[in-house]
Amino acid sequence: MVVGGTVVTPTGSEVADVAIRDGKIAAVGHDLPRDGFEVIDAKGRLVLPGAIDVHTHVRLSDEAHPHRFGQDLAAAAAGGTTTVLTFNNPGTGITSEGSSSPLAGLDEFRARTMRQAPIDFGLCSVISGTQPRALDQLPELIARGVPTFKAFMVYDFALPDDAIERAMGIAARHGGMLQLHCEEPSIIDPLVSEAVASGRVGARYHAACRPPEAEALATKRAIAMARRAEAPLYIVHLSCAEALDAVAEAKAAGQPVYAETCPHYLAITDAVYADESDADVMRRVISPPLRSAADVDALWTGLRDGVLDVVGSDHVPDRLDTEKRLPAPPFPEISNGGPGIETLTSVVYSEGVARGRLSVERMVEVLSASPASLFGLSAKGRIEVGMDADVVVWDPDARRVIRQDDLHHTSDFTPYEGLEVTGAPVRVLSRGADVGPPSGQFVERRIAAP
Ligand SMILES: [Zn+2]
Repeated sequence: MVVGGTVVTPTGSEVADVAIRDGKIAAVGHDLPRDGFEVIDAKGRLVLPGAIDVHTHVRLSDEAHPHRFGQDLAAAAAGGTTTVLTFNNPGTGITSEGSSSPLAGLDEFRARTMRQAPIDFGLCSVISGTQPRALDQLPELIARGVPTFKAFMVYDFALPDDAIERAMGIAARHGGMLQLHCEEPSIIDPLVSEAVASGRVGARYHAACRPPEAEALATKRAIAMARRAEAPLYIVHLSCAEALDAVAEAKAAGQPVYAETCPHYLAITDAVYADESDADVMRRVISPPLRSAADVDALWTGLRDGVLDVVGSDHVPDRLDTEKRLPAPPFPEISNGGPGIETLTSVVYSEGVARGRLSVERMVEVLSASPASLFGLSAKGRIEVGMDADVVVWDPDARRVIRQDDLHHTSDFTPYEGLEVTGAPVRVLSRGADVGPPSGQFVERRIAAP
């Protein structure tokens, strides 16, 4: 039983006890009878539902790294995340057979993650233009607990527009939803060619080739496709004001469009591209790239007023020497992405709640409750009777500095090195138990009808 803490829900916060039985929340109330319960004293602390990180690219374990998958999920838990959804895009360790068909990818993912994870997890299947039968398999994937699919409008595994629109429709008719990476190759590709031809190949030129208008244009096209397909749409890692405006407009028109941003877009600006050395900038090679201070402000406003629904980490456990290939290759060859699975709640709490930019109630909504309802995790995301006891006791006053040396993820750097943060998890329960043994389960998800 978690006793005397301030229990936070999307609609309010209140000092209460939380009784846990058989991995579920059995009661929430004042002065609950304690007999037979282990008591966790949470006085002066917040009691939060564990974060649900719906955007990660955790790599599968292999012979060279036999604990890689479990270690990144343990890192998530150390930061206050109790459920992780991950993608199986190329580069995450899935074999070529798993990559060639979504159903084979699901089978391989389940087989290769068994008894490894210390917290619950699920798969968001990547649907790519290189998988001949991907669209036919969507209904069966949904039936098997994978109702959300990621497609890319860029990269060599992009899905062509006509297939995206068809996938949206098929998914919608069977209770699923597409998650779309919105960037416009017709703007990006010529800029990259031009930069390379003129010898501007350092890491800092990556960002200049992926301007906000490339993201905004693709976002608007995606919204139009979803409207024609009469389908819901989830936009991943939205990073700029212009794309945000397009989402606001669609929502105002009543279209079921949802959008996610990531902690790095909320905490770091594109000033680092000019300020840092090329070797440091290489750590910031992500897509979309970091944006201006004005964009950062717009994203916080969007989170507050509900245009943005979710914050996900977009964790990519790259290592500088191997995946990023230090010293940096020409920027078009640098692996995109950076780690963030362990720092998600810390960054959102510190930069948002502690700085007065986000209420703690809204924080649990964008980190827990909304991800649970949008992604079909009906037993998770709230401190409420009957829900899984995925509970984080959070010290709102702790102060620390984020250092790679203190983190547990499988990457060898953090984008937040040296960032002073307020707030820290002091106890993390997964289904009512301290995180440790690999007892996390693959969660078969079902999205509730709207
Ligand atoms: Zn991603």
